[in-house]
Amino acid sequence: MMTTTNSLTLNLQTGLLEPVLYQPSPHCDERPLGTEIDMIVIHGISLPPGQFGTDSVSAFFCGELDYASHPYFAEIKGLRVSSHLFIKRTGEIIQFVPFGKRAWHAGQSFYDGKSSCNDFSIGIELEGTDILPYEVVQYQRLSQAIFLIRQAYPLVTENRIVGHADIAPGRKTDPGMAFDWAYLKGKLA
Ligand SMILES: [Zn+2]
Repeated sequence: MMTTTNSLTLNLQTGLLEPVLYQPSPHCDERPLGTEIDMIVIHGISLPPGQFGTDSVSAFFCGELDYASHPYFAEIKGLRVSSHLFIKRTGEIIQFVPFGKRAWHAGQSFYDGKSSCNDFSIGIELEGTDILPYEVVQYQRLSQAIFLIRQAYPLVTENRIVGHADIAPGRKTDPGMAFDWAYLKGKLA
């Protein structure tokens, strides 16, 4: 069974978007038994921070980043993290973890009475920073992905599409003030 929007499809058998580059990350595991996916967490990331179009985010999420290649990377050395999706400034989507598995994007987190949001959420990283406006094409691809995810996982209601900062306040700020929530919600309506 498949659901489709424009050219993008969510394959419910594999838990992968198609046609999308799939770079399997070892930074994932099984969701707790019986867990229902009911939340999307939106993030912002660029590596090094503020530099776009590098392959560093993919390498980082796949455990293949050359930590000697930039001074900043010393700060993140050894971290084992991932997301389900990464949407580049160009709109290109890369998937690292099938939706059915638990990606490691939220860290210590809490929302609406529940902690450990990785258990029940899908993590989507946008290439960017907290202060530089995200690209229109990123919102387009994000809204397409969210549409398909919500078809597959209808418990992801609009108020359960949140930012990393919303579930880890004081610890995380992404996707930052640059992220236009009203614009996204308008596209989802
Ligand atoms: Zn984040």
